[in-house]
Amino acid sequence: MKEIRFYNTLVRQKVPFVPLAPPKVTMYVCGITAYDESHLGHARAAVVFDVLYRFLRFVGYEVVYVRNYTDIDDKIIRRAQEEGVTTQELAERYIRSYDEDMKALKVLRPTYEPRATEHIPQIIALIERLIQKGYAYVAEGDVYFSVEKFPEYGKLSGRSLEEMKAGARVSVSDKKRHPLDFALWKAEKPGEPSWESPWGRGRPGWHIECSAMAMHYLGETIDLHGGGLDLIFPHHENEIAQSEAATGKPFVRYWLHNGMVTVGREKMSKSLGNFVTVKQMLARHHPEALRLFLLSMHYRSPLDYSEKVVSDHEKALEGFYETLYLLKRLKPETEAPAPQHEKPLAEASKTLAHLETRFCEALADDLNTAKAIGELFGAEKVLNQVLKLCGRRPSAKHLEVARQGVELVQKLGGKLLGILEEDPEVFIEKRRNRALEEKGLAREKIEALIREREEARKAKDYARADAIRDELGKMGILLRDTPWGTFWKVL
Ligand SMILES: [Zn+2]
Repeated sequence: MKEIRFYNTLVRQKVPFVPLAPPKVTMYVCGITAYDESHLGHARAAVVFDVLYRFLRFVGYEVVYVRNYTDIDDKIIRRAQEEGVTTQELAERYIRSYDEDMKALKVLRPTYEPRATEHIPQIIALIERLIQKGYAYVAEGDVYFSVEKFPEYGKLSGRSLEEMKAGARVSVSDKKRHPLDFALWKAEKPGEPSWESPWGRGRPGWHIECSAMAMHYLGETIDLHGGGLDLIFPHHENEIAQSEAATGKPFVRYWLHNGMVTVGREKMSKSLGNFVTVKQMLARHHPEALRLFLLSMHYRSPLDYSEKVVSDHEKALEGFYETLYLLKRLKPETEAPAPQHEKPLAEASKTLAHLETRFCEALADDLNTAKAIGELFGAEKVLNQVLKLCGRRPSAKHLEVARQGVELVQKLGGKLLGILEEDPEVFIEKRRNRALEEKGLAREKIEALIREREEARKAKDYARADAIRDELGKMGILLRDTPWGTFWKVL
């Protein structure tokens, strides 16, 4: 396979990926702040970096992957106070809920899922190091990072301190020496959770937890750091400043940022109220349809959400499973294919044989999932041609090509993208049951009508057979006659 290349936000171009100590790869992704249900925007980041994790493992790297939970923060405190529960209870509830969402979405568990409140000693040690080196200062129980002491501040977002000062909404505080200085430690406020520290009781700021936990689990220089585009400034800029000021070493070799999920081109967010939760989406759609939608655009592009687009992806997925289902039911009638089939079958086999290379090259090119998905659907087209070639007399050769294709798309789709992983028969049956239930139709009645139609056809009573087909059509049941029986689905 060709070399792997990623777009590194730090250098603003696609560059070859060379880990620090192969075959080991260290990877950190900013997780959720646990104060509410997760929405599609969170799901996109999780699924995109899940595919990155899967891909790196697939090509042979030993990946240590950390994704954190922010379990102490202003929003968590406010929400807990409103509800009259502890911050711990609130965070626990939403961490559990997120875990359920991730499991349903088939997102693999990272190697470590640390929580900020379980790493207070590491956080305090890092802040102490920054104070000792003169990068941070104490002000009335707070500790701030002094951005002016770190000349490279702004290198990730590509802006100067002056530009950032003009552009950012900075809170005015006379405790800070510079408006962009950010809190590493916040002094205790009445009624808020707090921990002992050399500067009095208090709690960590948001940015420092990621630096402390990334370095604790992965070392002082890590290979990959991911997160949403909206985290570049100030969160990731601050992570770099704190970490590199403390260690004097590069913190991250490759910064990867995913684009936002938008609704009518506007960012999906809690504050705008234009979000759909992962749970709402899972109630409406198959998890693989959601993954297919979330991976349908290149990860750096915005992804515009509408129910129509998700449904279209769901239909495409169903169509794919239908093809796999029909192919898996093929039974050979003869050994050799008809002579005129030999060439097209050989071509189909050749195209399928190249699928894995093309698919992996797409992912190696800055994780181009859109292209990789295109390759899978290209293979589906080839498989449908094989199905057509089979006609009424599939040969052992037809079957061999079919099996080769089915195995390959299920392997690549399943292992790397987390789609097409189910047994086609189970998938089709589940979809049928769900659709029947939604329409209030009885399966026995439909199957009885299909049997009756088959008998009518056998008896050459085509008028009766057509009448039954029409009757089923009116109920929303679509029939597809194949040499090995009638396939039906609910529209
Ligand atoms: Zn972070």
